[in-house]
Amino acid sequence: MKRLNGIRLPKSKRAQNKQITVLPLPKLIRIPMLMHMGEPCVPCVEPDEYVYVGQEIGRAESDKAVPIHSSVSGNVSVISEYSLPDGTKVPAVEIIPDGLQVIHPDCIPPKISNQKELADAARKSGCVGLGGSGDLTYQKFSRSEKMNILVLNGAECECFLSTDLRQMLENAEQIISGAAMIQKIMKIKEVLIGVQSNQPAAIQVLTQAAEKQKGITVCPLPPLYPQGEKKVLVFHTTGLVVPEGQEPEDIGVLVLNVSTCAFLYQYAQTGIPLVERVVTVDGNAVPKACNLQVPVGTPIIDVLSYASCELDLVKEIYSGGAMTGVCYPAFRASVVKPQNGLVAMKTVSKRKAPTDCIRCGKCLSACPMNLMPTEIDRSYQKRDVAALTDLHTGLCMNCGCCTYVCPANRPLSETIQQAKLLLSNA
Ligand code: SF4
Ligand code: SF4
Repeated sequence: MKRLNGIRLPKSKRAQNKQITVLPLPKLIRIPMLMHMGEPCVPCVEPDEYVYVGQEIGRAESDKAVPIHSSVSGNVSVISEYSLPDGTKVPAVEIIPDGLQVIHPDCIPPKISNQKELADAARKSGCVGLGGSGDLTYQKFSRSEKMNILVLNGAECECFLSTDLRQMLENAEQIISGAAMIQKIMKIKEVLIGVQSNQPAAIQVLTQAAEKQKGITVCPLPPLYPQGEKKVLVFHTTGLVVPEGQEPEDIGVLVLNVSTCAFLYQYAQTGIPLVERVVTVDGNAVPKACNLQVPVGTPIIDVLSYASCELDLVKEIYSGGAMTGVCYPAFRASVVKPQNGLVAMKTVSKRKAPTDCIRCGKCLSACPMNLMPTEIDRSYQKRDVAALTDLHTGLCMNCGCCTYVCPANRPLSETIQQAKLLLSNA
């Protein structure tokens, strides 16, 4: 099979051999009402109210939202205002934990015997894509098309991150049981689990766990970035091409992250919604990188302090990996459902001033979608919508490979995002 392009990122997964450790309960939890792709939830608890672990505290009033649950038991202190990284303000429920972690009596295993019940359960659980996307998992199960293949994404190709890797090493049985559950309910013939070939231990443990299940195969993938991007992942596992403007589900391929799959299995067993997640803590202000299991809504300053971060020296914090992470404006942020990484840096990433294109072709060789970033850049400068359409600009997935390799420091991927915006408004 032809291999798509990509880039080799520096080896920087310092936490990959660190077992998941449970973070002690913080003194305060602050849970923002928007932690998914879509619309915010509406707080449905009041100050001074006692809440349980797994109790709904944010109501989803649209099909572009899933409910938000308390990650601790304790008393609501206040409904405050929370700034998202893009500056948008949403309400946040602040809770003082009582340390008892009393689980809400409604947390009982759901009945899941058909696709509708699976979609309902995924929605009720508050499940979102745990690989960083934050998309609404229930929407994938609500589609009417027949899904032929389930692809599990274990290709954690970004710098720093090792949460999926640790899940695969420590919870392989749950991932496989979750895959088998979805496979059976959705009558899917084949499950393919994509894992980068430079993670042989994960490949081995998943292969062993899958031995007793029919139709589940682990697929070693080239150790390149952006192997975990869904169109690249689908091509390298199934050989299928997802056309421009379509999602893998449009061609009958259901894609789920391995950690999301493990969570869905846990939820089916316990009925406890998505109230905690594993976060890789790294960056040059963190002496010992680690993987921490954290209640959703934990202030990031508590997570960084636990990881002995040199707080006074921190110049930049971001959520996620180095290529696709989002910069946090302040320490006041909380850990949110899709957050797989928390990176604290003593240095500020400065980009050198761009110079003229020297036509080296490196951006072309790096692009997994075989796009021509220089031509798109040029056509965007002229606002040439027809040319941008002919150049298949819509296929760009904002991976940043072109910008990363450009010796002239041209901000190609940023320009291409602007070009996509121009096309969508044309
Ligand atoms: S950002 Fe877009 S154009 Fe650049 S390498 Fe990635 S997919 Fe290609
Ligand atoms: S990598 Fe940069 S310098 Fe080379 S062709 Fe692309 S835009 Fe031009």
